[in-house]
Parts: sequence; C-alpha cells; structure tokens
Amino acid sequence: MTQDCLFCKISKGEIPSKKVYEDDEFFAFHDINPAAPVHILVIPKKHVVSMQHVTEHDAEWLGRLMVLAAKIAQENGCNPGHEGGFRLVTNSGIEGGQEIFHLHLHILGGTRPWSNRAAPAA
Ligand code: AMP
Ligand code: ZN
Repeated sequence: MTQDCLFCKISKGEIPSKKVYEDDEFFAFHDINPAAPVHILVIPKKHVVSMQHVTEHDAEWLGRLMVLAAKIAQENGCNPGHEGGFRLVTNSGIEGGQEIFHLHLHILGGTRPWSNRAAPAA
C-alpha cells in the first residue's frame, strides 16, 4: 500500500468502486469514465507503479493477471468468438498515457464495429 494511491484504496474498499472481481491477489472494477461498452480495470492488490517497474521476478503474477483479465472479459459482456473479442491495454508512464500510477490492465470490449475510440489516452 502506498499512501494516497487511489487504486490501493479502491482495492482495500476504502474508496467505493463498482467491483467486478476480487481474490487475495487481484481486484477488478468498472472504469469510472468508460471508453467502450465494456471497460473494466484489473489491478494487483500490491502497489506496483507500472510495466516500467516490473522484472523477471514479476513474471508469474503478471501471467496470472493476463489469464484473469481474459476470463473477466469473457464473463462480463465482451462479445464471444472470433468476431467478438476485447483489448487489454496497460498505459505505462507519462508518454504511455498513464494517469493513475498503480499498474492496471484496461479490458475494453463490446465495441462493434471495432473503433480506435476504445483506446484510452491514445
Ligand atoms: P490510465 O490513463 O491508464 O492511468 O487510466 C486510468 C483510468 O482510471 C482512467 O480510464 C480513468 O477513467 C480511471 N479511473 C480514475 N479514477 C477512477 C475511479 N475512482 N474509479 C474507477 N476508475 C477510475
Ligand atoms: Zn497503489
């Protein structure tokens, strides 16, 4: 937990969110300003700033995060199959369009036809 980190507070329930999923390691909730019909954020509960701050020691939980995000996407309104699908985006650093400095995956889906509008901070 880093003091004053919004997403640390959300994952601890100290700030309300529209929760989608929670386990010991991860927390998922609806983005407050959705850029697509399905826009969910998935975060590790431990405070990690961004993909600029991970090393090979983080590979295992990052793998679990990716697998979980795909499962959450498929269970929360993303259209199924080859013609459906979803995007997983993680903005990293100022030039990467990151605004909240706690690593998060954006799940973006339900946009048909597919549109570049579903690209936060693009
Ligand atoms: P990024 O630019 O990748 O750091 O994305 C941060 C995302 O967090 C944006 O899509 C915001 O809409 C979203 N966001 C900011 N505050 C909240 C909040 N309190 N609850 C849910 N999503 C939020
Ligand atoms: Zn944090």
